[in-house]
Amino acid sequence: MTHIAISRIHFPVTTLGPGNRLGIWFQGCSIRCPGCISMDTWAPGKGATTVEEVIAAISAWLPRVEGFTISGGEPFDQPEALFGLLSGIRAISELDILVYSGHPFERLDANLKGMPGLIDALITDPFDMESSHTVAMRGSDNQRLHLLSDLGRDRLYALERPLAADDKMFDLMMDASGEVWLAGIPGRGDFDKLKDHLAGRNHRITTTQNRAISSGRRREND
Ligand code: SF4
Repeated sequence: MTHIAISRIHFPVTTLGPGNRLGIWFQGCSIRCPGCISMDTWAPGKGATTVEEVIAAISAWLPRVEGFTISGGEPFDQPEALFGLLSGIRAISELDILVYSGHPFERLDANLKGMPGLIDALITDPFDMESSHTVAMRGSDNQRLHLLSDLGRDRLYALERPLAADDKMFDLMMDASGEVWLAGIPGRGDFDKLKDHLAGRNHRITTTQNRAISSGRRREND
């Protein structure tokens, strides 16, 4: 049994790679990039489950899944769990696996040597809000795409392209508690525009970013 902390699992995710993808977000991130829009995934110790339970949970979607996207949070903060998850996916599917990491590729070398052939494409490096945003599937242009397998080179090479208008899309998902999540990579300031738009129609939006900022302030005051 391999322990893993997961923020959420969703299908279909259509904005983080080609086709209808199964998205798995790890919980916990030690990198903490300024401007991160996934601050709800930073805290460790939430979403504890096992790799075996995750594999069992995703199996029902498999007939309709066209690829896997693993993000977070920081997947490589849980290397054993990541290895177990990737191995489990490979055991039940021949579809491509795209992984996001906020670490530089060079720092992941040792981890990747222990996961041969398990990742088809890897997008690395921390989100940098000072960097421009002109490349598809990334939040900032310093982030690099690495095609690590023939399947990745065949199916995911097209992610190396300029940002297009139709890249600016979100998948909306609602969990059992009624909270709405967005999957995708927003343009700079898009969340603020969305908040202003909803506020103009008398809706109130509380983003996880704002909540995480509040809890971060509490921590600073401790
Ligand atoms: S690595 Fe990803 S989840 Fe972690 S702080 Fe950076 S952008 Fe956010």
